[in-house]
Amino acid sequence: MGILEVKNLNLGFECECGFRQALYDVSFSLECGKMHALVGESGCGKTISAMSILKLLPKTAYITGGEIIFKGKDILKMSGHDLQKLRGAKIALIPQDPMTSLNPLYTIGDQLLEVIKIHQGLQGKDAFNKAVEALELVQIPCAKERLKAYPHEFSGGMKQRAIIAMALACNAEILIADEPTTALDVTIQAQIMSLLKNIQSDTNTAILLITHDLALVGENADYVSVMYAGRIVEKAPADEFFNKPEHPYTLALLKSMPASKRSEKLQTITGQPPTIQQFINGCKFHPRCSQCMDICKNVVPPVYYVGENHFSACFLNKDDNCSQD
Ligand code: SF4
Repeated sequence: MGILEVKNLNLGFECECGFRQALYDVSFSLECGKMHALVGESGCGKTISAMSILKLLPKTAYITGGEIIFKGKDILKMSGHDLQKLRGAKIALIPQDPMTSLNPLYTIGDQLLEVIKIHQGLQGKDAFNKAVEALELVQIPCAKERLKAYPHEFSGGMKQRAIIAMALACNAEILIADEPTTALDVTIQAQIMSLLKNIQSDTNTAILLITHDLALVGENADYVSVMYAGRIVEKAPADEFFNKPEHPYTLALLKSMPASKRSEKLQTITGQPPTIQQFINGCKFHPRCSQCMDICKNVVPPVYYVGENHFSACFLNKDDNCSQD
């Protein structure tokens, strides 16, 4: 059983044209010491699923069903006060652009100490030592001196390390990393991912990695969920995901992945994912699917289990030796 379970999460937005559903029965879990990757094209619902865990949603968003269970309690039913205690302290967010989380007017030390005082209740020298320890853990050299620096004096990679240090200083049990390396150059990307992997194994932290980068997933994740148009269409342990992908959308994503060992020509997925305003009957991938059948245009495919912890929401899996959920 995971430390966090998202169960049948349904969410929509109130738009000018009325209510539009954005997430359909999204379910996944996070386990201590494991990384779960949520992948898919932009706008497929990855970030809004992750933000639901922290209940950090736009005013126009409404959760219409489901549960998010953290250590036996439903986050969706928590009071504002309990949510405040959860955010940052138990579940921390590592954003795409660290500048959105760091205040340019305060030093790194001020911001780190504030977090430590609020969430750990430490003061004075104890808080200072904890701040130095956190910066050292994320391998920022000369940590004591660096506490006096302002965010603009840090490089992109260093800022991202400082954000991770804030999460570590609070002993967060879950890290939500939303495209954590997109704003960084390639060598720094590898360093940040290696840092996250070390944290995961050393502190048994559960990590939710939101990404469209399958290479990053292949190198780091333990489990993968593929999202398309607000639904999870395939979920599998990472090795099975890459060795035995089932869903046509997953196959298309993998074929569009640049990889030096791949001999096949790089392919693109024709068409665009639907916007939230576009209603598509049946399987939402059917307008782009090369294997579309008549049934796909009218009926939403259920989930078919094709292995242990591995499902695909595609009618092509119907006749496999598998169970239907
Ligand atoms: Fe393609 Fe049909 Fe499977 Fe959807 S259900 S992915 S349209 S084959």
